[in-house]
Amino acid sequence: MEDSEFDVIIIGAGVMGSSTAYHAAKRGLRTLLLEQFDFLHHRGSSHGESRTIRVTYPQHHYYPMVMESYRLWEEAQAQVGYQVYFKAQHLDMSPSDDPIMLALIDNCRKLRIPYQLLRRDEVAEKFSGSIDIPEDWVAVSNEHGGVIKPTKAVAMFQTLALRNGAVLKDNTKVVDIKKKKQGPGVEVLTAGGKKFSSKKCVVTAGGWAKKLVKAVSGVEVPIKAVETNVLYWRIKEGQEGKFAMGSGFPTFGSFGKVYVYGTPMMEFPGLIKVAVHGGRGCDPEKREWGPGVMMDELKEWVEGRFKGIVDSSEPVLRQSCMYSMTPDEDFIIDFLGGEFAKDVVLGAGFSGHGFKMAPVIGRILTDLALHGDPQSLHIQPFHIHRFTLTSKF
Ligand SMILES: Cc1cc2nc3c(=O)[nH]c(=O)nc-3n(C[C@H](O)[C@H](O)[C@H](O)COP(=O)(O)OP(=O)(O)OC[C@H]3O[C@@H](n4cnc5c(N)ncnc54)[C@H](O)[C@@H]3O)c2cc1C
Repeated sequence: MEDSEFDVIIIGAGVMGSSTAYHAAKRGLRTLLLEQFDFLHHRGSSHGESRTIRVTYPQHHYYPMVMESYRLWEEAQAQVGYQVYFKAQHLDMSPSDDPIMLALIDNCRKLRIPYQLLRRDEVAEKFSGSIDIPEDWVAVSNEHGGVIKPTKAVAMFQTLALRNGAVLKDNTKVVDIKKKKQGPGVEVLTAGGKKFSSKKCVVTAGGWAKKLVKAVSGVEVPIKAVETNVLYWRIKEGQEGKFAMGSGFPTFGSFGKVYVYGTPMMEFPGLIKVAVHGGRGCDPEKREWGPGVMMDELKEWVEGRFKGIVDSSEPVLRQSCMYSMTPDEDFIIDFLGGEFAKDVVLGAGFSGHGFKMAPVIGRILTDLALHGDPQSLHIQPFHIHRFTLTSKF
């Protein structure tokens, strides 16, 4: 089906927009997904080889979202017929008095997430000597980890959206959204001069969300685009098996001076992904494509935690990516409000940790557009009005 009248138009075909298009089309809504660049491009946040999925968070509101997402990842990959989610254990580690780790452990207890609290020698034993934490650190291990293949997952949602009747258009940049002059709904205008009409609109524009929302409504949402790097390090010859996916080696996160994260050896034989959660503020239109930040801390971490069996002198592969950060690093999932009331829904500011929850976020954004409420999961922590918003109008 292709026409210019839709039930829902989704702007931005990263993982959030593509997942939303899949959920909307599956519900039988006439769905249009618009992307400013080529589908599966590398200028946003959703491309690459691996993303971590985990349930361990210091905040309690993510647990039900991740648990629903596990189910929805399985369901979607069964529908498409290939695998995008690979199960692994997950390990969090930090100095034993780290406040984030203490909140995370407290959360595990309250939410009854089965976990093991490990000291240094127990970590070495459990992971065959591949990981070494200092004596005054602790680690928390649990079974709910894993890796998602990002580009493949976005392609999966787009394929399923198409199969369910959605219309997908790339190289179509949205420049404005207007309330219809007559009757309910919106008009979406593109840089190429096209106009599409819809009952509802969902904005999932990643690092461009701030610019688009400001152009459309005058509201300045506090989302900062940040350029960050994914780094791969060479495992010393003969030691690769200890780090391989399926060997028991976990996905991991490490709190302390810097937040370091990584995944088992999977996408590039002989290399392991270890990166730091951070980067440089950027203009998404004029990226620096620059080197990583906190490299000294990261090299020290690789040397210390992997006991010299991963070469810490330099990463051998670097991939650039973009975060869209909110001040508190919680998401923004809400109606845009103002003259648009509940006709425009915003899903943005996924702050470097949203990929794992893309299936449930797509489901919630669809429910917000369709019913005006998120259906079962509470989204209060993600309301836009937790921030003081400035408006030029
Ligand atoms: C290096 C890195 C590591 C990460 N690791 C993890 C992890 O381990 N686990 C995890 O859960 N999450 C992780 N994340 C976070 C996760 O990848 C993001 O939260 C998620 O990809 C955000 O998706 P998005 O759809 O909001 O943004 P994007 O992927 O950027 O998509 C937005 C899309 O909107 C399009 N667009 C923008 N403006 C317009 C317009 N005007 N018209 C049409 N189209 C437009 C853009 O071109 C873009 O394609 C990581 C992110 C990065 C960068």
